[in-house]
Amino acid sequence: MNMEFYRKLPIPKEIKEQYPVTEEMARVKASNDEEIRKVFAGESEKFILVIGPCSADREDAVIDYIHRLRVVQDKVSDKIIIIPRIYTNKPRTTGAGYKGMLHQPDPNEKPDMLKGVVAIRQLHMRALAETGFGCADEMLYPENYRYLSDLLSYVAVGARSVENQNHRLTSSGLDIPVGMKNPTSGDLSVMMNAIYAAQHGHTFIYRGWEVASKGNLYTHAILRGSVNKHGQSMPNYHYEDLIRLFELYCASELKNPAVIIDTNHSNSGKQYLEQIRISKDVMHTRRCSADLRKMVKGLMIESYIEDGCQKITDTPVYGKSITDPCIGWEKTEKLIFEIAEGL
Ligand code: PEP
Ligand code: MN
Repeated sequence: MNMEFYRKLPIPKEIKEQYPVTEEMARVKASNDEEIRKVFAGESEKFILVIGPCSADREDAVIDYIHRLRVVQDKVSDKIIIIPRIYTNKPRTTGAGYKGMLHQPDPNEKPDMLKGVVAIRQLHMRALAETGFGCADEMLYPENYRYLSDLLSYVAVGARSVENQNHRLTSSGLDIPVGMKNPTSGDLSVMMNAIYAAQHGHTFIYRGWEVASKGNLYTHAILRGSVNKHGQSMPNYHYEDLIRLFELYCASELKNPAVIIDTNHSNSGKQYLEQIRISKDVMHTRRCSADLRKMVKGLMIESYIEDGCQKITDTPVYGKSITDPCIGWEKTEKLIFEIAEGL
């Protein structure tokens, strides 16, 4: 083989024993998860915000940011459920560049996967222990899910992974909501097929085991816009797009029809400030149709402490994204309150 088997890593069980969650953390996560489940089951009218930086690049700034979210969450808890984004593994369009904290706990150092596994677990643990949030991450590498399975409250399958069988089958065995993004091409049938696959049980190989999944009935859609053959961004958050999705759900046998609208990526064309307008547009759309109001369960917003993004340097600006541009804290706080008012 053309690769070096460099060292054997601890399995998730070993890492979990080394860095265990306390009973209190497990209790808080279970109660959060039940609140979130009710939304996707249609038993709660609360609105979900999956919100946070594109990538969790450093522990101090991410924890600072999530503490700020906690203060806001407590003020809007009658209407909104915040699920912070702690995205520790990043898909890269060409494979080049920063692949997230899992690969590079320090963005300026070379990859160290053992340090990475420990760093991402510690970051998710600190968030839960200090702020009471179970967070969201992208499930980029399904076999790694179990390193965080006692910490995560929400998982997204990204636009570049959603057609992959391994992601779909693993999602079918998860007991938290999984959001399937539309692929970068925008083909909604790929996303709907992913939801179908994950809502059903399968027998397959997972981490060297033959496993049988039961199907995850809280697997749902995430619309993130697409890119056309000319490389232009094609949004899919408008009223007409959502009606189209509603019709696809109606024509399917899928359970718990739901969608989260991603306001950045190809919906904003990474014009990150547009996320504010797009959020309000979606809130308006929800008010125009009882069907859409029921189906649109929340938004995914890329937000951090500082506006915009920066290149990876030795003298980074604290709290500024090193991947996709984000709205900064002041705008974020204001937007969450405006969303709550408009519900
Ligand atoms: C992200 O959420 O940061 C992301 C990479 O999303 P997508 O898979 O939609 O590109
Ligand atoms: Mn992003």
